[in-house]
Amino acid sequence: MTQNQQDLLGLPRRRLAEVLAPFIDRPYRTDQIYRALYERGAGEIGSITELGKELRAELAERFTIGLPEVATRHLSADGTEKFLFRLADGATIEAVDIPDGRRRTLCISSQAGCALTCRFCVTGYWGGGRDLTAGEIVAQVLAVGKQRRESGGGLNLVFMGMGEPLLNLGALGDALEILTEQISWRRITVSTAGVIPGIEELAGWRKRPRLAISLHAPDDDRRSRIMPINRRYPLADLLAALRRYPLDRRERLTFEYLLIRDFNDAPADADALVRLLSGLQAKVNLIPLNPDPVLDESMKRPRRTVVTAFRDRLTSKGMTATVRKQRGDDVSAACGQLRAPGREPRGFRRSNLSL
Ligand code: SF4
Repeated sequence: MTQNQQDLLGLPRRRLAEVLAPFIDRPYRTDQIYRALYERGAGEIGSITELGKELRAELAERFTIGLPEVATRHLSADGTEKFLFRLADGATIEAVDIPDGRRRTLCISSQAGCALTCRFCVTGYWGGGRDLTAGEIVAQVLAVGKQRRESGGGLNLVFMGMGEPLLNLGALGDALEILTEQISWRRITVSTAGVIPGIEELAGWRKRPRLAISLHAPDDDRRSRIMPINRRYPLADLLAALRRYPLDRRERLTFEYLLIRDFNDAPADADALVRLLSGLQAKVNLIPLNPDPVLDESMKRPRRTVVTAFRDRLTSKGMTATVRKQRGDDVSAACGQLRAPGREPRGFRRSNLSL
């Protein structure tokens, strides 16, 4: 891409029409280009052969299609595949494709890195990067879809990869405007560490994806120790914002709760969690910790019996709770294991953890 070229990828339909207006004579040309970008995943303007040769040459002078390079792919024994993308500025991000019967879940990134430095998260260990553009978000779906077309079936999309999506709401909104032409809003989940202004802004959207909240502890003391953002947005404020959040009658908020051995896995913690979430349309997704060499050694996964007992205690008190299946951990594609290699870690101090 030269300095004068504008990237078309990430432009929703109406903005695409605006930027193309000076160059095309018939409105249906915009539809042709839109479909080539987002349905076919065209990587070059020259390949949009629905357009005449002259128009393609003229557009190629002014515009580009910023599909990122797939730098590496790692296939897990369970079929989960991790993709590492290299972006135009050299930043790297990861996406994970998780097949499950006839369906697939694609876990994608919203930022290259993450400044929130959650203590259990490998992305957080490496520190802040930059916001992704809408094009870079959409490109992950297009690129993985191209590679895995053969798998068929429906697609669920979860923003649980690298970064905090609610700190990049502008790009997220544009990307969702494009992606929801092919994927239902109900099949898209945005996960937040608890950025209250972002939750409030999302609440005002006419259409909203599902919302998941990384909770991971039932009280402020322990949550602040593993999620520094809790000092800024403590639990009482976060829960108050979530009680105001508009939900459909059958829709529920998902609370992700990482189980860490001898830290937050006691029966009393399950009871505290039920009290904390009482009155909310909620379900809990329990995630046994994925250990990683860069994380604090004291962070260990609980024994399976403890995980099951924790889930059963929640369900016995009327809470819907499931244990997330372990997927892709042999290729570091499991939850919390995504990283952007090649940078020095920032803002992460093991000594502060003291579990
Ligand atoms: S868990 Fe999410 S919000 Fe926390 S550091 Fe990792 S990517 Fe950022």
